[in-house]
Amino acid sequence: MSNKPRCLVRGSINVDEFFHVPSIVQPGETLSSTHYERRSGGKGANQAVAVAKGGGDVTLVGAVGSDGNWVLDGLKQVGVDISSVFVTQEEPTGRAIIQLTPQGENCIILHRGANYTPISEEAVRSVLFTHLLLQNEIPFASTLSALAHAHRSGATTLFNPSPIPSVEQLRIFPWSQLDWLLVNQGEALSLLRAFNSQTNESSQNSHISIDIPSSWPSRPEIRAAYLLLHRLRANTAFSPKVNLVCTLGGLGVLALLNSGEGLYVPAAKLNGPVKDTTGAGDCFTGYLVAGLMEVETDGRIESLAKDVVERILRRAIEAAGICVQRPGATESIPYRTELPAIE
Ligand code: ADP
Repeated sequence: MSNKPRCLVRGSINVDEFFHVPSIVQPGETLSSTHYERRSGGKGANQAVAVAKGGGDVTLVGAVGSDGNWVLDGLKQVGVDISSVFVTQEEPTGRAIIQLTPQGENCIILHRGANYTPISEEAVRSVLFTHLLLQNEIPFASTLSALAHAHRSGATTLFNPSPIPSVEQLRIFPWSQLDWLLVNQGEALSLLRAFNSQTNESSQNSHISIDIPSSWPSRPEIRAAYLLLHRLRANTAFSPKVNLVCTLGGLGVLALLNSGEGLYVPAAKLNGPVKDTTGAGDCFTGYLVAGLMEVETDGRIESLAKDVVERILRRAIEAAGICVQRPGATESIPYRTELPAIE
C-alpha cells in the first residue's frame, strides 16, 4: 500500500443521453424530442470526479467502448487518472437513455455496455492506493475482488451500494472487510430487510431504543433514520466495525461511527432554489473520501475521532449544497476552492 493518499474507484462510466420530450413515449408511439443533451455519467466516474474536485488524488478503473474517448477526456481534464481505464472494441460505453418531460417526469433505460466487460484483477493490483471506493454498477464479483484486495493491503474501504444489490448479494457481502458504508434512507432500509430475513432478527432488534442528542432537531424523519442505523449496526449479519453514513436529502446527513457515537449535520443553507439534485449523493460521497484522505495520510485509522468526522461531513454537505443549486451531474460538483471555510 502506498502512503501518499490515493483513492482507487473501481466503478462504472456512462454516457447519459437526455431526450427532452413533451410526454413520455407510449408503446407504438414515435415522438420527436425538443432538445438533446449528452453528458458523462456513471456513479464510478461521477464519484471519481468529486474526489478529484474535492482535492484528492484519484485513479478510476473501469471500461468504456471506442465511443467513450470524449468521456475520458472530460475526466482527465478535472484531474481523474484514467490511465487504468480500458477501451474495448467489443461493447459500447454504458448508456443511460433518459426521457425528460416539462413536468419533470423521467423515464430511463440503462445499458451496461462496457461496464460489464471482464477486466483483469491486475488492473486494480497494479495501482498503489490508500482508499478504495465502490458502487454497484459493475459486476458484483469485480466489486468483491477489489474489496478483498484492498482489505488485504490495509487500505480504507468504502461502499455506496447503489443501485441496491440483490438480497442474496447483500447477504454474502463480506461486511467485515468494509470501513465505511454510505447509503441513503431507502438503501439503509433495504439492507435491514435483507439482514432481518436472513437472521430472523426483526423481532429482536425492533426493541432497540435510542437516545437522540438534545441538540439535534426533533424531526421524526431523523429519529427514524437514526433508529434504522442502530438496528443495522446491531444486526448479527452486519459488522460493528463499519462506520455508517446515511444521507437524508434536504435534511442533511446522519452517521453512526464504529465507536458507537452518533453525528447529525444539517443540509447546507442554500443561496437560491434547488435546480437539480442529480449527482448530489455522488458529490457528497467523493468529498467524504477526499476528506478522509486528508486525515489518513499515514494509513487507515481504525476509529476516527468524532469531531474529525464531523468536519469532513460538514465539508461534504457544503459541496452537495452547491451541487443541488446547479444543473447537471459532474458539471455541478464544485471545486474545493468554491467552498466556504469550515472552522
Ligand atoms: P441520493 O441522491 O444519493 O439519494 P440525497 O438525496 O440524500 O442522496 O442527497 C445527498 C446530499 O445532497 C444530502 O445529504 C444533502 O447534503 C444534499 N442535498 C440533497 N437534496 C438537497 C436539498 N433539497 N437541499 C439541500 N441539500 C440537499
